[in-house]
Amino acid sequence: MAEPAAPTVLILGGTAEAAALASALAGRARVVTSLAGRTRSPQPPAGELRIGGFGGAEGLAAWLRAERVSTLVDATHPFAANISANAVAASAATGVPLLRLERPAWRPGPDDDWRPVGSLEDAAAALPQGARVFLAVGRQELAAFAGRPDLRVLVRTVDPPGALPIAAEAVVARGPFEVAAETRLLQSRRIAWIVSKNAGGSGAAAKLAAARALGIPVIMVERPVLPPAETASGVEPALAWLAGCGI
Ligand code: NAP
Repeated sequence: MAEPAAPTVLILGGTAEAAALASALAGRARVVTSLAGRTRSPQPPAGELRIGGFGGAEGLAAWLRAERVSTLVDATHPFAANISANAVAASAATGVPLLRLERPAWRPGPDDDWRPVGSLEDAAAALPQGARVFLAVGRQELAAFAGRPDLRVLVRTVDPPGALPIAAEAVVARGPFEVAAETRLLQSRRIAWIVSKNAGGSGAAAKLAAARALGIPVIMVERPVLPPAETASGVEPALAWLAGCGI
């Protein structure tokens, strides 16, 4: 008799947690990590890798059916709202169980000076005239600051930036980042403001610790609201949920 095929887990990735989950599942299941294809040379995850959009919720549902996916894990970035909504819709359409792996949001401590805003556009409006600012946001989000040519902008990109939508100094680096290096970066550019998305997790938190130590205010863009889904806050609880699905 033929061996039963290993269950297939599709991880919607693009985060450190997605990579860690793929590694932890190696040998237990067929694991496919899906990336949008935004980064030129992504770190290859354990298991299989596919790259590129599915073609909306219908495309994702078709992929789940065609590949006989048994469980879907949405481990995308908390600000990747479209793919997360598509995951909820595709799970509902196919009956493939969905888990959202979502790291907890950062919370300010007593020594933090955070100014919460609802969008990148609000962040752009909140910066004082002529501010020296570290825009710790994705390169495709810099366009939200195009109406503020008065700002002196520092950005950081994973790949060499090429033409940016705004005038900025770009440093090329891939996280995780350390507090001492972040502090040096902020001091060397005399940064007086930071704009950050509330991504959560440890890889990008060092800039917040550096800001706290230097007394730099942080304009914190709050997370988009996502449709409800079963959620795990990290890799360990996600593995426990998958074990409950027989993986
Ligand atoms: P998004 O706005 O939610 O997604 C836009 C479209 O990109 C989706 O509709 C989907 O296309 C495709 N897509 C997104 N993630 C995908 C994935 N993991 N696999 C296959 N297709 C995907 O997403 P985004 O904010 O542009 O983020 C794109 C990717 O970068 C995500 O995987 C995310 O985890 C990662 N990332 C995002 C951020 C951020 O701040 N947004 C930060 C770090 C990493 P179709 O509709 O055609 O399927």
